[in-house]
Parts: sequence; structure tokens; C-alpha cells
Amino acid sequence: MHSSDLRALDSAHHLHPFTDFKALGEEGSRIVTHAEGVYIHDSEGHRILDGMAGLWCVNLGYGRAELVEAATAQLHELPYYNNFFKTTHPPAVKLAEKLCQLAPAHINHVFFTGSGSEANDTVLRMVRRYWALKGKPDKQWIISRENAYHGSTVAGMSLGGMAPMHAQGGPLVPAISHVRQPYWFGEGRDQSPEAFGRTCAEAIEARILELGEDNVAAFIAEPVQGAGGAIMPPASYWPAVKEVLAKYDILLVVDEVICGFGRLGEWFGSQHYDLEPDLMPIAKGLSSGYLPIGGVLVGDRVAETLIEEGGEFFHGFTYSGHPVCAAVALKNLEIMQAEGVVERVRDDLGPYLAERWMSLAEHPLVGEVRSLGLMGALELVADKTSRARFDKRLAAGNLCRDICFASGLVMRSVGDTMIIAPPLTITHHEIDELVSLARRALDETAARLA
Ligand code: PLP
Repeated sequence: MHSSDLRALDSAHHLHPFTDFKALGEEGSRIVTHAEGVYIHDSEGHRILDGMAGLWCVNLGYGRAELVEAATAQLHELPYYNNFFKTTHPPAVKLAEKLCQLAPAHINHVFFTGSGSEANDTVLRMVRRYWALKGKPDKQWIISRENAYHGSTVAGMSLGGMAPMHAQGGPLVPAISHVRQPYWFGEGRDQSPEAFGRTCAEAIEARILELGEDNVAAFIAEPVQGAGGAIMPPASYWPAVKEVLAKYDILLVVDEVICGFGRLGEWFGSQHYDLEPDLMPIAKGLSSGYLPIGGVLVGDRVAETLIEEGGEFFHGFTYSGHPVCAAVALKNLEIMQAEGVVERVRDDLGPYLAERWMSLAEHPLVGEVRSLGLMGALELVADKTSRARFDKRLAAGNLCRDICFASGLVMRSVGDTMIIAPPLTITHHEIDELVSLARRALDETAARLA
């Protein structure tokens, strides 16, 4: 079918996620047809460096034949069976074992889901069930953060702190409260980063006291806030948060949907920040996005209670631990181990990206450059000296994103924060290309805004 026909049909029938349906209907979509390595191709013949690994998920890059073969073999062997009612199948068992080997030592169980959002729904059910079983049913409140993204189901959206989602999606799941995020560039520049990190941890303690210390069940956060703008917290933040949670006996849920599977140069972002989560929702990089699969890694404290005291847990999805998805995820993790992908991000690619990415700090449009592992951010500013932002109506970030796309790079915009999270298989040469495409896009954005 010709691409203009596809585009017309897309506009006629397809409601896209996170999209203004009417505007897209008028404009028409870019049609991505195939991909290899770190590059996607569209129907107009453009080759585009995918600086976002799809949606932060194609960790091994595109076109891995071993993953295709794992899926095909499993489709022949057993295309579907479930894990309900005392049944299981080899791919789910082997994947569970592999995940528990890779996870921190105190994590020895996993509950499978079809996505990251379903993983966070599962978190909510487990947290509340855990405290009920502990004889503390009043421990209901979950503290999350403003501008957090934890998914698009009603529970995921309620746990998240995205104001535009809340404005459309109410009423939200009750007993979820949001505190300020450790976003120094955006919200904390009147303090040093270290002091601001502590201020944000103090905000959690203040909220616990406000809600009643016996009523707070859990705190949920990403190690580095991803969709919120690749926000690496100040070094003081996580140690101070850990102290607060321990003081009031509050569970720690670390959402590893983006940071898990090597993004920050460790298997899990929690390991980079020395966190001991009670629950870790996972998805995305688990299968390098080749097939949909997620889960919740459950620490011993919660698992023992749910197992020993819980009886039947009335929760699960038709595709929990789907055999084909599990087989692909298992192969994905095996390849990552065999090729030393995580270590390479930590010791080689992460430092290399940091050095090259940092060279953009001199650009007149850039107020701050951040990176950790293979995640990076640029803050666009109207005035480099005062680091004042652009007028929101100029939509500078979206302009820069569109210029990037047109010139061969996927770089995402969150307001005026530009973010990248390329496949973990990117080479030095491709990092050079990414940075030079980003620089050219910044030049053109600056020229268009002048
Ligand atoms: N949690 C985080 C941190 C995410 O970034 C996302 C998706 O971007 C989700 C949860 C939801 O995952 P999914 O889109 O697979 O439902």
C-alpha cells in the first residue's frame, strides 16, 4: 500500500496514544517501516538515528535475529498458556529464575504482567495487601512525586504525578499523595543541589507527618525520573529519602521500567543509588521491547508475608508471563549477559556519551547538560547567563524535537528539556553522530527562535 494511502487510513481510523487526535488527523503521521541497529527508517526513505530506543525500551537495538528465533521457536512449541490455577510453563519459570539472579540479593520472586502500567497496578494491590496482612490496614497512603510517570491505567495514572493526565482522568485512585520532585534545574536553583536534595527528602517526611505516620504504606519513585525529563537527583537525595522511609517503616517501591536492564550502567537503577527496594516494577528493556512483558520483582519482606499469610491473591492478567514474551525476554537477558552490555554502558559507553554530550554545554541555547549511563538531558534556555526559560508559547522544545526528526535524529522534548536514551548497543561513532545531529538541531532551533 502506498504511504499516502496508509496515512489517510491512519487519520481515518487510528487513535494514537498521547496525541491530539484532531491535529494528527490533519497533519498525518510519519510511518516507520523498518529498522536495524540504532536506526529506524520511514516510508519516505529517511534513515533516522533513534536517540530514544523507541520508548526507552529497545535496549539491544533493532534487528536481533536471536530474539526473532526465540519467539518463532516458542510460537511453535507453545504459543500460549497461562500461569493461573497451579499451572506454569518453562519460559516463565526460566525467566523468573534469571530475573532473581540478576536482581539484588533480597529479591527472590517475580509477578509477571503485560506492561509497566499493569506492573504498577500490581504494586498498588500488593502494597495494600501487605499492610492489611500485617494487621495495619490503615497504612493505605502511597506517596509519589509530582511530574512522575508510572503508566496510563487508572492506577498508573493516579500513582504518576502528571498534572495534565490527572486533569483529564478523574476521579483518581484515592490515598495517593504527591510531593515535590528533586529537579534542581527546574525547581531548586535558589539552593545548592545538595541542600535541595535534602529539602526534597524533608518534603516527604513532612507529608508523612501530615498524613499520619501510621497511615503511610509506601513511597514510589524512579531512580532517575525518565519521562519527567531525565531528572537525575542531587547526590544527597536518595540517602536522605532512605533514612526517612526507614524511620517510619514505609515500603520503598522503585519503578525500574526505564532505569532497569542497563540504562544507568547497572542491571537496575536501584543498584546505582544503593537502594533496597521492597518492590520493583519492570518492563520495556526486559524484552528490549520486542514483545510486551512486564512484572514486579518482590523483595523477601513482602513476598514472605504474601506467601505465608496471604492465601489466594485475587489478581493476574491473561498475558502474565506469556510464554512467547517470556522466551524473548529470557533470550534478551542472556544476550545482554553474554555481550557484557551492562558493563559496557557503565565503563565505556556511558562515560563516552557523558564527555561528548557535555560538549553541548557551550551552546548558547543550553542552560544545563545532564547524563548518566545512556540517558541524557539538555535544558533549553532563552538567556544563557540568567538561564531564564523561553516563553512557553514558543514551544522551543517541540520545535527542537521536530527539527531533530527532520534532520535524522529522534530526540524527545519534555517542555523545554530535550532527552535522549539510545539503544545500549550504540557505538562510539554513532554517539558522535548523535551529538553532532543534536548540535545542528540546536543551531537551527536558535536561528528559528531569534
Ligand atoms: N513506569 C515508568 C517509569 C514508565 O516510564 C512507563 C512507561 O513509559 C510505565 C511505568 C508504563 O509502562 P507501559 O507503557 O509499559 O504500561
